[in-house]
Amino acid sequence: MYDVIVVGLGPAGATAAYELARKGFRVIAIDRKRFPRYKPCGGGVTAKVEKVIGSDFKEVVERDIYKIGFTFRGEDSIIIESNHPVAYLVMRDKFDHYLMQKAKEAGVKIIEGKKVTGVGEEEGGVKVVARDGVYYSQFAVGSDGANSIVASSTGLKLRRRVAVLLDGELIVEKALLSEYNGHLHFDFGSVPCGYGWIFPKKDVLSVGIGSLRGKTKKLRKYYDYFLEEQEIAGRVVSEKRYGSLLPVFDGVSKLSTNRILLTGDAASLADPFTGEGIYYAVKSARIGGEVLERVMDGDMELREYDVRVAKEICSELEYARRLSMIFHFSPRKAYSFLKENQELMDAVLKLAREENSYSVLWKLIRKKAGFKLDAAWKISELYSFFVG
Ligand SMILES: Cc1cc2nc3c(=O)[nH]c(=O)nc-3n(C[C@H](O)[C@H](O)[C@H](O)COP(=O)(O)OP(=O)(O)OC[C@H]3O[C@@H](n4cnc5c(N)ncnc54)[C@H](O)[C@@H]3O)c2cc1C
Repeated sequence: MYDVIVVGLGPAGATAAYELARKGFRVIAIDRKRFPRYKPCGGGVTAKVEKVIGSDFKEVVERDIYKIGFTFRGEDSIIIESNHPVAYLVMRDKFDHYLMQKAKEAGVKIIEGKKVTGVGEEEGGVKVVARDGVYYSQFAVGSDGANSIVASSTGLKLRRRVAVLLDGELIVEKALLSEYNGHLHFDFGSVPCGYGWIFPKKDVLSVGIGSLRGKTKKLRKYYDYFLEEQEIAGRVVSEKRYGSLLPVFDGVSKLSTNRILLTGDAASLADPFTGEGIYYAVKSARIGGEVLERVMDGDMELREYDVRVAKEICSELEYARRLSMIFHFSPRKAYSFLKENQELMDAVLKLAREENSYSVLWKLIRKKAGFKLDAAWKISELYSFFVG
């Protein structure tokens, strides 16, 4: 019998497993894929991740990012810059493999290529059914991503919105790749209720679009149009495209039972404004590891995990949700407002290094926009309720 079984070895699972193993617990982690495995993702890791997983991950970083550019349908450019890196770009196969190896070195027993098909609480423990057999532990961590089998097995009803994304890995002309060196680009208005992104890796340009309006059917068309508008279309040597879903935060949910807790995408903890999920995956996993340690020592109950996630993650994501609703309700107006108020853009940049928070950003915007901000939020919430 293990102390903890972790299901899924993405950033959340690998971090939870590592944190528990280094505290001396017997941990087994199971992933349905063999590593290194491909994962569709922009691979933008904000600098604040360092506060959770340390700085050693930089050995797999492809580029440091100092500058972020924004446009609205290819125009009205805004550029914000920092003296320190605000983000790092990684290829997810390497980044996730690095985190998995780190967990293994800390003593986690790793099972690769075995899908978990069910998880259930029994008297005194948890039973995890995988393709190669049945495993037992005292506790389990569900880190199995967007279509979490652990989440559905627990019966917990999570509040979430599901974003649809189309992500391309492009081999492009060398000159084009170097034009984006050290620089992330976001374009609003290129897809309803979302944005397009251009992230330059070492050898490929990661380009994609994502929309919070899950019903968006014309994603391919928007993607092609985005490539043309950004003057990338004629400069592509080869391209791979991947469609995926990302569950984003849509309000506080219960994320634990007596013996199981959910982390990362399995807990729908991605930022509803930016789609950033890696930071929230490792942060929730870290909190999960800390709470489980105390629970196994007998001086805490697992529901403390919900209390801490609500306080340390959801309180922030709630403001991101409000800003996302307002922005997508009237994107052109919201973009112009940001462009006219450069100090707000500087505050946005500071979010990436955790030198600022969404709640502070909300207060700053409120100071500029007055009570109109609250009215805009109420209207956009109502609109989102009816339109989706
Ligand atoms: C197109 C796209 C672009 C994105 N870009 C960014 C970005 O630039 N920056 C950012 O911060 N976030 C980004 N995100 C979000 C980010 O990818 C996720 O939030 C993050 O991967 C969540 O980590 P996780 O560990 O919770 O889940 P995952 O990374 O999805 O890991 C889940 C793991 O569980 C395994 N698994 C699944 N089911 C089972 C099962 N039944 N049994 C065993 N194992 C299982 C999977 O194989 C996988 O290894 C993007 C997402 C998408 C879709």
